Amino acid sequence: MPSDLYAQALTRLDDAAEHSKAHPETVQRLRQPKQLLEVSIPLRMDDGSLRIFTGYRSRHDDARGPAKGGIRFHQSVTKNEVKSLAFWMTFKCAVAGLPFGGGKGGVIVNPKELSLAEIERLSRAYVRAVGRNIGPDTDVPAPDVYTNAQIMAWMMDEFSVMVGKRTPAVITGKPVALGGSLGRDDATGRGAYYQLKELESIRDLEPAKTTIAIQGFGNAGQHFASLAHADGYKVVAVSDSRGGVHDPEGLDIPTILEIKQSKGRVDGGKETEITNEMLLELDVDVLVPAALEGVITEDNAKDIKAKIVIELANGPTTPAADAILEKARTMVVPDILANSGGVTVSYFEWTQNREGWYWKLETVHERLAEIMKREFRAVYDKHESRSISMRTAAYALALDRLADAHEATGTKSDFAR
Ligand code: NAD
Repeated sequence: MPSDLYAQALTRLDDAAEHSKAHPETVQRLRQPKQLLEVSIPLRMDDGSLRIFTGYRSRHDDARGPAKGGIRFHQSVTKNEVKSLAFWMTFKCAVAGLPFGGGKGGVIVNPKELSLAEIERLSRAYVRAVGRNIGPDTDVPAPDVYTNAQIMAWMMDEFSVMVGKRTPAVITGKPVALGGSLGRDDATGRGAYYQLKELESIRDLEPAKTTIAIQGFGNAGQHFASLAHADGYKVVAVSDSRGGVHDPEGLDIPTILEIKQSKGRVDGGKETEITNEMLLELDVDVLVPAALEGVITEDNAKDIKAKIVIELANGPTTPAADAILEKARTMVVPDILANSGGVTVSYFEWTQNREGWYWKLETVHERLAEIMKREFRAVYDKHESRSISMRTAAYALALDRLADAHEATGTKSDFAR
């Protein structure tokens, strides 16, 4: 990620402020994280040697509720990246209307070089290092790049030992047997699918005539593809890191999923193979980047033919590309809205842990649909009424909500009478 990532985040904040009722004091408060913790984590390796790892946890803002955001284990983690990702979580939670602020954490480590036992010790040691700064009412972590349900289980267990009581609500993305929510696995793809359904009614889309190309066939991309296909949409191209397939008549997604599971790559047999770059430029109605950040750039934005882009991945469009797409009147459903289904079901997990009453899968789906449709519509209305991009509208709406929380305790206007 570029080193000016936090500067990019602040640009989004300033753009949003122009279209929000937020008092300048709220904007001033949101310019820096409330807390940014750096810890060193000594770890005894399997061969008896000692290695020191560096970890971070940022709580960007918690005016609307405890901070929420993942922990990543990756060699390229930096303090600036963690700080920026926590900022984005503040806006993602606010735009989804969740009672959470934004957080993020990470450890600089290549987990592929560690044994499973070393990863367990690292996960537990990380929690001991940041343990006084996280908790169900302060900051609630979750999985992110190269962390998973098993790591969440170790972290929850370690935290429970630290505080002397079982505390499932400290972390989300846990295995279902330890208090995880049903429906978390497909929540991100499903959330974006519900938003597509809302757009379908706004724009009178006809599924059988609407073509979709999806870059990235992992958790988010696969579930979105399956739901759209089952609903009659024409998914004409999908790809993964090894390349993609294209059939203008529509792909059979269940077959492609089966092949992906058995061969580890997307292939359907009779379609044309295409590269990831070609997929982005296909003449389709809807383009869904669902893999990496920064794939739609200044260089290829003018060649994007889709009139709707749904950002399932985080940060797939660079700011320069954004301006080009806006000029071309392409609707970009921004990442903080499009992929907020994941954190919404994390919120459901936290809620269920606190009430000790677990929901049926249908209940999760119903409540997710309600939130996704409502918040998509709220952003869309702001986009229409103010003639601003969906991205600026999403940030402005989030900022309005953050302002409500911050300003409830007073601003200069209240005190300097
Ligand atoms: P994943 O690891 O399950 O899948 C990633 C997919 O991208 C894989 O199919 C991989 O082969 C493919 N890929 C890798 N490099 C590629 C390339 N150069 N071109 C095309 N495809 C490539 O990850 P995921 O959980 O599906 O996450 C994908 C994106 O969605 C990320 O940006 C992530 O931050 C975002 N996201 C995911 C969730 C979630 O709940 N899974 C939530 C919010 C945001």
